[in-house]
Amino acid sequence: MEKNQIIKIYGEDYKEMTKQLLEAADLIGRLPDKNCRIGIKPNLVAPTPAFLGATTHPEVVSGIIEYLQEHGCRNLTIAEGSWVGDCTAEVMEVCGYYELAEKYGVRLIDAQKEGSFEEDCGGLKLRLTNCVKTFDFLINVPVVKGHCQTKITCALKNMKGLLPNAEKRHFHAMGLHRPIAHLALGIHQDFIVADHICGDLDFEDGGNPVVRNCIMAAADPVLLDAYVCNLLHYDCSEVPYIGMAEALGAGSADLTNIQVAVCEQCHTANMDLTEERTETEKSSGTGKLSGEACDESVQLRFLSGDEIWDEEIPYAQKVVTVRDAVEEVESCSACYGSLLPVLDRLKEEGLLEALQEKICIGQGYRGKSGKLGVGICTSGFAYCIKGCPPSEEEIYEGLKRYLAER
Ligand code: SF4
Repeated sequence: MEKNQIIKIYGEDYKEMTKQLLEAADLIGRLPDKNCRIGIKPNLVAPTPAFLGATTHPEVVSGIIEYLQEHGCRNLTIAEGSWVGDCTAEVMEVCGYYELAEKYGVRLIDAQKEGSFEEDCGGLKLRLTNCVKTFDFLINVPVVKGHCQTKITCALKNMKGLLPNAEKRHFHAMGLHRPIAHLALGIHQDFIVADHICGDLDFEDGGNPVVRNCIMAAADPVLLDAYVCNLLHYDCSEVPYIGMAEALGAGSADLTNIQVAVCEQCHTANMDLTEERTETEKSSGTGKLSGEACDESVQLRFLSGDEIWDEEIPYAQKVVTVRDAVEEVESCSACYGSLLPVLDRLKEEGLLEALQEKICIGQGYRGKSGKLGVGICTSGFAYCIKGCPPSEEEIYEGLKRYLAER
């Protein structure tokens, strides 16, 4: 496949679909040689199983491994570090990655336990975990989903999992977008297999999966992110790291030149099922939506013009309705990402209306005072829900107590 191309496949047998997709994309033809050291980087942000819309389906990674092993590749490693506040080992356990690594005899690296080194990433020095130096070819396997701070997350942002925790925090203090763009130069991703199966369109840590049953292959992370941005109803200008990465030479965000190919058989089945869903199912991302199993050989067809944007994906809604209650300055994903679902929960319980003041959160509040804050960074506030980051349950209980005392 060419750099300006994206290939998509639909269905419910995620492992087989992945293998068919890689065959169609000729992944093996892209490797420097079969003995090269191949890294596989899923998204294991938090301890939630893939069906909840936050983490990479292990079946997709199984498909990648089986495809590579069947083509004679033996030097395979899965590497990932979950977000600050969660422990990668627990996430790998919950998401089935220990079992998977054992079954296929591949190495598993917990990036949170790795040492790190400093790298000049296009004029910005960043600390990267040592494992990134051990790969000759890196396959990125992100989840297509929404993000409460950057609006979307897919290929470029997924590389954050290969940073040490201190650098992850530092990213937020630097405003996220600029360092994410520079990271694209520090860690080169050679191929992307995007899990577009049921990503949550609001929250990075899932809970509200929107079923698409699709897997995509791409060779340019900037192009894929620009495409996903439009699929999820954002303009690329609303996700600044995409344009910044393009300006740094990490890829192209030129959607006028994009070619999207689908497997004709499963795409048609998917579109038929999309049409059959009720309006409520379409707007909430529910209802049956699964392509037929494809024959062994995928027949690719390039979509023309408007067809490329035919996917009916609902708009993110939950974040928009609760974001106004928060003043966020440089907060880490784990902190902010835990607060917003809590606010959504309090709203559904009818408790949020009693909140008079904004909830402050983020590293920008260190050493400052105020009324109500979440996270140890707001320890100078009159009421602070401590923790770094506090868990969702701690935030929920803390805010309930605060509202009850009013
Ligand atoms: S308390 Fe501050 S440093 Fe800790 S996770 Fe939250 S925002 Fe980041």
